Amino acid sequence: MRYTSILNASTKNMRLLLFGKPGSGKGTMSQKLQSYDVNILSAGDILRKNVRMGTPLGQKADKVIKQGSLLPDDVMLKLLTSELEKVHDYHWILDGFPRTIGQGQLLDKQLESNSINLVINLDVPDSIILDRIQQRWIHEKSGRVYNLGYNPPKVAGKDDVTGEALTQRDDDNVDTFKTRLNTYRSHTEPLLEYYQSSNRLETVSGKTSDEIWPQLNDLIKNKFSFS
Ligand code: AMP
Repeated sequence: MRYTSILNASTKNMRLLLFGKPGSGKGTMSQKLQSYDVNILSAGDILRKNVRMGTPLGQKADKVIKQGSLLPDDVMLKLLTSELEKVHDYHWILDGFPRTIGQGQLLDKQLESNSINLVINLDVPDSIILDRIQQRWIHEKSGRVYNLGYNPPKVAGKDDVTGEALTQRDDDNVDTFKTRLNTYRSHTEPLLEYYQSSNRLETVSGKTSDEIWPQLNDLIKNKFSFS
């Protein structure tokens, strides 16, 4: 109940969580949302950056990511809130954090009335997401995502913007993906109930980004105003 008025007030800043299974298109939707004046924070991209830089966190994250399991809640909270502090008063979008009820509660406690005011669940059938992640290539430095099936790069194997080489993620393989999906079911999916009970949850369903994007865009345009 507490959040109903925030959601109905179209002038409020967007503080959005993109939610969904691994491979549901959170990264692709974030990319499209860059057309708005928003700050996008992807937990996975921040962790992968730490892995590339070889920081102590990166060394720990590398193992956890390859196993398809999750880093501790307090570590993730610290990491993401330090990034959020830089963008505090603007529209922001989180991709991949919170991912457990513990993380959701910790973030709400820390940000209080400035916490997430809309969660959009990207509901995509399991049957198509395994295929999707096998076709996924990324530009690691920027986090740009390509799919050889429906969103291929202009030049094969190269990032559209920088021309640099695309790579596949270590955890985008069949075995790790199964573990990630299990981790999603046991730890992440229960968060839907948490956000539903505080009236922050909306769900959009579809098989492709072309089906999902117009629904998601309408939701955002109806709830927030952009100058
Ligand atoms: P993603 O790019 O969102 O698929 O995240 C890649 C991996 O990073 C996940 O499979 C986890 O191992 C780790 N990770 C990302 N976000 C979180 C989070 N909020 N909590 C714990 N681990 C995370």
